[in-house]
This record gives sequence, C-alpha cells and structure tokens, in this order.
Amino acid sequence: MTDPALLSAVPTGIWIGGAAREASNGGRFDVVNPATGDVLATVADATVADATVALTAAVAVQPSWAVTPPRERAEILRRAWEIIRERADDFADLITLEMGKPLAESHGEVAYGGEFLRWFAEEAVRIGGRLTAAPSGNGRILVTREPVGPTLAVTPWNFPLAMGTRKIGPALAAGCTIIVKPAEDTPLTMLLLAQVFADAGLPDGVLSVVPTRSAPAVVGALMTDRRLRKVSFTGSTAVGKKLIAQSAEQVLRTSMELGGNAPFIVFDDADIGAAVEGAVAAKMRNGGQACTAANRILVDNRIRDEFTTALCARIDAITVGPGHDDGVSLGPLINARQRDAVSTLVDEAVAAGARVYTGGAAVDRPGFFYQPTLLDEVPAGSSILDEEIFGPVAVITGFDTETEAIEAANGTDHGLAAYFYTRDLDRASRVAAAIEAGMVGVNRGMISDPAAPFGGVKHSGLGSEGGSEGIDEYLNIKYIALTS
Ligand code: NAD
Repeated sequence: MTDPALLSAVPTGIWIGGAAREASNGGRFDVVNPATGDVLATVADATVADATVALTAAVAVQPSWAVTPPRERAEILRRAWEIIRERADDFADLITLEMGKPLAESHGEVAYGGEFLRWFAEEAVRIGGRLTAAPSGNGRILVTREPVGPTLAVTPWNFPLAMGTRKIGPALAAGCTIIVKPAEDTPLTMLLLAQVFADAGLPDGVLSVVPTRSAPAVVGALMTDRRLRKVSFTGSTAVGKKLIAQSAEQVLRTSMELGGNAPFIVFDDADIGAAVEGAVAAKMRNGGQACTAANRILVDNRIRDEFTTALCARIDAITVGPGHDDGVSLGPLINARQRDAVSTLVDEAVAAGARVYTGGAAVDRPGFFYQPTLLDEVPAGSSILDEEIFGPVAVITGFDTETEAIEAANGTDHGLAAYFYTRDLDRASRVAAAIEAGMVGVNRGMISDPAAPFGGVKHSGLGSEGGSEGIDEYLNIKYIALTS
C-alpha cells in the first residue's frame, strides 16, 4: 500500500547543485501510473538552458571531486547504498507506481540497483596503474588512470533505479561528475535517488538530474558542449546509433547499452522443468520489458510439444494486474504506445499464420495491460522474430540440430544476452563459445549481477557496466614517461 506521504516527499524539480528547481520556462510534465492511466505527479521539464546550468555546476566541481580521496568517495557511495536499503519500501513503491512492475520485482530492483553503489564503493579504492622499466633501458613507464570528466547518463524507463545506479556508481567511484537524463516516463525514482545522495553527503553539483520531455534537444545540446567528456546511454539501438554519431563531434567517450534479441535455446537433453521456469523468468519478468528478455525461444523439435505444453500451463498461471495488488505476477506495460506496439507485432504474426497457445490480446481494463501470450509456428520473416518484443509474449521456434540452433541464435544484428539449457557439459562449453552475445546464461534464465560485466556486442552496444570492468568506462589511461 502506497504511503500517502511518499509522493509529496519526492523532489519534482530539476536537481542541480544539491537542490530541486523549476524549469527556466516554468514548464512541467505529467508522470502517469501505467496501471491506471492516472497522473501521479508533475515534474519540471528541463530546457537546454537548464541542462547547461547543470553542466556548468558539474564542470565547476569536477576538479575537486576528482581529487577527493577515493576512500571518501567510497564512503559516500556506501552511505547512499545504506539509505536506499533503509528506504527500500519507498523506492519499491515508487518504481511500481511509475513503471508498473509487481511490488516484489520492484524490491528486487531496489536490491539490485542499490548494490551497484556498494559494489563501486568497493572498487573506488582499487583504481590502479603500473610502473615498469622500459625494455630498452631508457627510463620507466608509469601508467595511471584518471577520471574521464563530466559525464552525461541517459537512461530508459524499464529499470528506473538500476539503469541509473549502474552508471552513477562507477562514475562517482572514478571521480567523474554526472548529469542524469532519466526517461520521461519514470523520472521520480531518479529524483528520489538525487535526494538520497544529498543526504549521503555528496557535494553539490557532482550529481544532477534533468528530467525533460525534450530529450533530443537537451541531450544534443550537452553532447555538443565541449565541456562534456562522456556519454553513457542505455536504451534502444535506434537512439544509441544517433548518439554514437553525435558523439563524434566532441570525440566523447561512449558507453552504449542498447537493445537485445535474446535467443533462449532448449536442447533435447535439458531439464525441461528447469527450462520452463527459466523461460518464464527470462520472458515475463518486468512484463518482458527487459533488454535481456528472451525474445526467441528455440526448442529442439523432439521435445517441442512437451516443453510448449508445460510453458503454456505455467503462463496460464500468471496473474495480471496492478503491481501493488497481492498475488500479481505481471503488471502493465509502460504506456499505450508500448502496448499497441506489442499488439501490432502479435496481430501481424497471427495474420501470417502463427498459432496462439494462450493470450494474444490487450486486457480490457484501465491502464496498459497485455495478456501473457505464447505463440508457436510463427512464419520465418515475421517482424516478431526480428524485433525486440518488449512485452509478455513468448515465441517458440523449433530446430533439429545444434548447428541449426546456433545459426538461428546468431542470426540477428543484436548480441546482448543469450540463454541455453542442456545437461551435457561438452555441449555447454561448445555452445557458450559459439554464441555471439555479451552475456550467456547456462541453465539459468536470470543473469544480471552487479559483480559481473553487463554489455553487448554487435548492435547491442559498446562497453561494460558492472563488474570490475565497469569502472574502466569512466577512467582515461595516461602514460607518463620517466627518465629513471
Ligand atoms: P529509448 O531509446 O526510446 O529511450 C532511452 C532514453 O533515451 C530515454 O531517456 C529517452 O528520453 C532518451 N532519448 C530518446 N530519444 C532520444 C534522442 N533522439 N536523443 C537523445 N536521447 C533520446 O528506449 P526506451 O524505450 O526508454 O527503453 C527501451 C530500450 O532500452 C530497449 O531497446 C531496451 O533493449 C533498451 N535497454 C537496454 C539495456 C542494456 O543494458 N543493454 C537495458 C535496458 C533497456
């Protein structure tokens, strides 16, 4: 049950210099509860001028933040993690309110998202370099790592907390200042996080949050400002490609976490019960609105009927409803546009001859709900096999050989997550090596871990977030030539 005081306690201004302020033109925009369609709050709508003020604040404190002792930076990050834990109910409540996922999943995101701050608090004190003798005998080679500088983070709506902390954690640990441009559907969680960082003692100006409805203009203006040094983006491949092109002008460091089209392969020697549970987790979690979501379920034809029947029964047991209601395991989609996009993909596949095992339509109730759906026999070439579905729709395709399964898995421009189920150890190592993806789950349907590098290959992105690799994205390498 939402604490009535929660929404009034969340800052709804643009967060700059440690305080919330109105937009320079006084503009505000609505944040909508996707479970009802009702307006939850209005938020200040940052203009290019406001974003430029945020960058000026970041630039002003960048030198002092860069030389703040790593231990102090670590303690602020750790304190922020502790406050998130203390306020876990508020964060979970807010995530469910503005994004819609079931409350238990929101709690999962709070734990996962918060953990990036603890993880990078621990990494902040381990930024190293090296000193070696030049092989020629001509002096010594000193290699150091320095913060990249003022960073812009652009985040999506599907994990309103975690997609922010995955960037803020390593940026602050490395000594970078950061401006976050949250998704317009879900700015409240990031604004509450800004308040948490202020409470944790983060110096003013180090973190800004600029909600805006004018993302292309605001992001474009910051990226062409020569004072910005890096952009870290999580979102669709289409927007990511635009930002990569824009980043050329100022030769920005870029981290790109883009779309996926994850294959989920079930071999004939798999534990079918485990594979069904894994498929439900990989497909239905977050309403299917995850970049790591299983987009294409590839099943050996010898077990296809058995697997499909079991998966269908499991999907039929899913309870759809508002994320705050007891027993609900599938919430709404984020907005009407997303629901309609999912509807269109399914309708086209069905019109082309796909078989609907269950679901197949929007739910007739307020909010933006879509039925959990299972399709099979989708004709090759259907958009639903190539595009990121981003909804609770499982699509099964059959295969006859391991080679065919791997070819199908790799037959996409994307390469973010991939999953497969087998009990054969040789096959496991063979297939894991052959799959073109940044992350591979072997006999598991959930793989994200703050201690592991998260990232994709091909059109799924550039760079890694999380793990000991994540902080490198925010550090420049400097070589210092010493005479002795
Ligand atoms: P999106 O690309 O539409 O938007 C992402 C962010 O970019 C938002 O903050 C948005 O306001 C901003 N934006 C949109 N157009 C812009 C432009 N022209 N210039 C600058 N900024 C712009 O994506 P979305 O719908 O919010 O999120 C879903 C997508 O994110 C999916 O494709 C999903 O796979 C991807 N995603 C990837 C990861 C990952 O780590 N690889 C994680 C989560 C989501």
